[in-house]
Amino acid sequence: MVNKPPFETWEKMTDEMAQFFISTETQTHVIDKLSKLKQGNWLLEDFWSEFVTWKELSGYNEVALVGLFKKGIHPALARKLVEIGQLRNSDSLDEWYEKALSFERSRREAIEEFRGRESLENSREVKKKPVLDVPRRDPNAMDVDRRREMRRCYNCGETGHLAARCSKPRKERREEIRIVKEAKEDFLTGRE
Ligand SMILES: [Zn+2]
Repeated sequence: MVNKPPFETWEKMTDEMAQFFISTETQTHVIDKLSKLKQGNWLLEDFWSEFVTWKELSGYNEVALVGLFKKGIHPALARKLVEIGQLRNSDSLDEWYEKALSFERSRREAIEEFRGRESLENSREVKKKPVLDVPRRDPNAMDVDRRREMRRCYNCGETGHLAARCSKPRKERREEIRIVKEAKEDFLTGRE
């Protein structure tokens, strides 16, 4: 193992300490943000990235988070999820998200069939991002800013941007390419 300069380790350590000792002020702030967070015109995946960025800082348990998630997603989508009646508040947040996402995806596919891929891509461009305002003077702003930088793009998995702004090919598209490529290789090598 290569020895790293202790300085780097120290920095990392203090960084983690800062994450650990979250002030109640930050927590109150985050709870406020989470309860006001609405999907609106956002892609569900982007709403989710935002949601998971804050959820741990809130200190909320799973049931409370499911409640907030349901309140935050598009009302029509929330209604749909309740209608199917397969989900309970006691189900995990991830289950709620997966189910919501499968609805969103099928809805999006239907829209794409209607309007064609091009116009959907365009509409994605003009979508407004909700703003999470953090006052500059707030001593917790740094916590919050760093948290925001840590958001993960669901499309490429990198941090610092959301899927709506991702420059990489869409995940679904990459998957298509992979499947086609594999099928082609199988065909050429005579594999079954
Ligand atoms: Zn990305």
